[in-house]
Amino acid sequence: MTTSRIIAVEEHVATETYLTSAHRLEAVIEERIEVGLTRTVEGRDPLRTALTDIEGRLASMDAIGQTMAVLSINPPGVQPYTAADAAHLAKSVNDELAEIVGRNPTRFGALGTLPTQAPAAAAEELERLMGPLGLNGVMINSHTRGHYLDEPQFEPILAAAEAHVAPIYLHPRFPGVLGPYDAHGLQGAIWGYQAEAGLHAMRLIFSGVFDRHPGLTIVLGHLGEGIPYWLKRVDNRHAFATRVPGAAGEMPRLELTPSEYFRRNFAITTSGMGDPAVLDLALDAVGEDNIMFAIDAPYEDSARAIGFLRTAPLTDAQRVKVSHGTAERVFNLR
Ligand code: MN
Repeated sequence: MTTSRIIAVEEHVATETYLTSAHRLEAVIEERIEVGLTRTVEGRDPLRTALTDIEGRLASMDAIGQTMAVLSINPPGVQPYTAADAAHLAKSVNDELAEIVGRNPTRFGALGTLPTQAPAAAAEELERLMGPLGLNGVMINSHTRGHYLDEPQFEPILAAAEAHVAPIYLHPRFPGVLGPYDAHGLQGAIWGYQAEAGLHAMRLIFSGVFDRHPGLTIVLGHLGEGIPYWLKRVDNRHAFATRVPGAAGEMPRLELTPSEYFRRNFAITTSGMGDPAVLDLALDAVGEDNIMFAIDAPYEDSARAIGFLRTAPLTDAQRVKVSHGTAERVFNLR
């Protein structure tokens, strides 16, 4: 393994089918804001071009020395639509992602999108995209109409992900309870995103999902969505709640400590986080075997992200793993 190989794993694209669907399909009412964003993207160059122009993406990867990108459809994926529309759109979009990878197999991998509002169809689609389509996992954009993956209706998706060794990249979106974030523009990447994705990950841990699915891998962006910062306190409070029944509401018995699940069942990426102090914290929390480089193109500056990777205070062995080694293992990349 060499450090000259660089793989970024949270790299967004959009296809024509996906963008035009934002105009054509009826979103469920509480999802209008994010579909509105997609509609805005459709008419707005240069963001539109940055998302749809695959040759341009390759050129910008070449310009900064990036070997590979693991692509995903622009958030919030197909989750704002009705179940039937989402199931149909997910298939088209996953076919298109597979086609892009097929044309450039040494430069691209891809994470499929799932119609989570139709869990049985989503589980079937997961099997198809990990099998015949040869994709590398799935991206789920946090809650589905205010519902979280630890709820029983999503069990088929978790079971399929474990069975087909499909890592689930749990990407942020606007919080499921939007009200308090609505003021002052805090719904999105500035604060609401990581609050939402961090909460979702904690729900997975504390609901016992990983006792039922010990082989499941969840990928979090933004160096773990705040969890590495809180992990020792979470262990401490979990231990307290275990010692003092009733102290923490309905916390179920778990086989492991929260931090043991975080190290076993999670991998995290550097998307949007160019802070060496936070990277240090993340290394302490999960180690370099569970940290991957990501840019979050086209929303973050690729050159600056690569600069961070090259200069971050890592040993040579750590840098090799963060640059590509961990991603190759987690996403089964050639
Ligand atoms: Mn992103």
